[in-house]
Amino acid sequence: MHSPVCGEGTPGSVTQWFLLALALGGRMPPTEEIKCTDDDCFLDLFENHYTYDVPEDYSVSELSCPVCGGTDCLERVEL
Ligand SMILES: [Zn+2]
Repeated sequence: MHSPVCGEGTPGSVTQWFLLALALGGRMPPTEEIKCTDDDCFLDLFENHYTYDVPEDYSVSELSCPVCGGTDCLERVEL
């Protein structure tokens, strides 16, 4: 039998908060998943969480892989 622990939640309020955040900020909170495409690298993907101070022209090409150290093997994962 299913007995949801969090069954008392109100999804509607979450949606309202989300829409409010969109209306105020005009953009999503800066979070992105990045994968390493190097065949010899055992890193699959990692997630970066940014502050709102992240520059408009920032891209993952400015990063290096935390495992293999490569800079041209990182690719942003489109969600
Ligand atoms: Zn790597």
